[in-house]
Amino acid sequence: MGEENSKDCHITNAEWQIMKVVWANREVTSKFVAEVLCEKMEWKKATIKTLLNRLLEKKVLKKREEGNKYVYFTEYSQEELSKKALMEVFGKICRTKSGELIVKAIEENELSFSDLNLIEKAIEVKKKFAVEKVKCDCLPGQCNCEEHDHCRG
Ligand SMILES: [Zn+2]
Repeated sequence: MGEENSKDCHITNAEWQIMKVVWANREVTSKFVAEVLCEKMEWKKATIKTLLNRLLEKKVLKKREEGNKYVYFTEYSQEELSKKALMEVFGKICRTKSGELIVKAIEENELSFSDLNLIEKAIEVKKKFAVEKVKCDCLPGQCNCEEHDHCRG
């Protein structure tokens, strides 16, 4: 689990809707997923089948035959895939902008006192390893941070 390339493992918004049904029910048939999602999402049954197949191709879902139908399941936890999706976002932006994005995430999410305690603890630990300045690793021409200006002299 988790060691394959993340490049073809990107899960689209539509696929996430399917995954949530799988996580909540452990094992699902396409009929069951259709019952949960078709009306709410205004999807046709064929859409569900397409999405299930894409998730199989990405190896996020597995299937086994049971009677005359397929049962779909996953070996990934919701936490694992959420983390992967989040790290994908951080991998796309300039490293110097990660802090700002984390602040946005805190500002724009509803959080409990216990969530905030966890965040505070994480910050306390992080302070021990903080650097004076985060280094940008973008290619020149991809970003306008000081470091690149500096390189241009
Ligand atoms: Zn940069």
